Amino acid sequence: CGIIGILGNHQAAPMMVEALRRLEYRGYDSAGIATVQDGVLDRRRAVGKLVNLADLLVTDPLPGFAGIGHTRWATHGGVTHDNAHPHRAGRVAVVHNGIIENFQELRAELDGPWESQTDTETVVRLCERFMAEGLAPRDAAFATIDRLRGAYALCFLFEGEGDLLVCGRQGPPLAIGHGDGEMFVGSDAIALSGMTDRVTYLEDGDRAVVTRDGAQIYDAEGRQVGREVRRVTVEA
Ligand code: GLU
Repeated sequence: CGIIGILGNHQAAPMMVEALRRLEYRGYDSAGIATVQDGVLDRRRAVGKLVNLADLLVTDPLPGFAGIGHTRWATHGGVTHDNAHPHRAGRVAVVHNGIIENFQELRAELDGPWESQTDTETVVRLCERFMAEGLAPRDAAFATIDRLRGAYALCFLFEGEGDLLVCGRQGPPLAIGHGDGEMFVGSDAIALSGMTDRVTYLEDGDRAVVTRDGAQIYDAEGRQVGREVRRVTVEA
């Protein structure tokens, strides 16, 4: 029920856990993070309280300056480790809030076996298939979003891409945070408040390509659009 994404200049894992803590007020049943370190994509997930994920990260650390994180409120599939986000297929990891309404149809198009019971796994599997067909990560993510029906806030992270997040929203909110040589993605300004107060809210149907240099935002028709950067104050 909460999303964080970081392209930073420090270890992302502790910053992501902290951001997910600020999103706890939304409720959740499991949590997880993924990072890219020296091009390698990896993830850690834990059922239950965020402290379980934090404990896991002590015994099994996850280095990397780029990452995505998630608190899940299960809608499709039980509260299990394998259903926790980030979901991964090959070179792609994704975090998702909301519901993919046409996931059964997408599942039927893709080959098993499936690792989870979630609607979300179809998103990474579809994106990985587009990449296998030769699309670049951002094009594969955009092509994937074009196929989705339902409500979603999504953030993609890719193996081999330590300076790229692709995100999109339809329904649930998503914001981009602007730092100094660092960029962030979060469910709201509260998630981002420990990192920056300069925030761009994505509008419904928007997708964005985020690198440490900034964000390029496109509307649902693929037109590049300008969205205001606001200064937001969040009470501690
Ligand atoms: N539908 C997804 C799931 O059940 C995402 C739920 C959420 O918004 O956290 O895993």
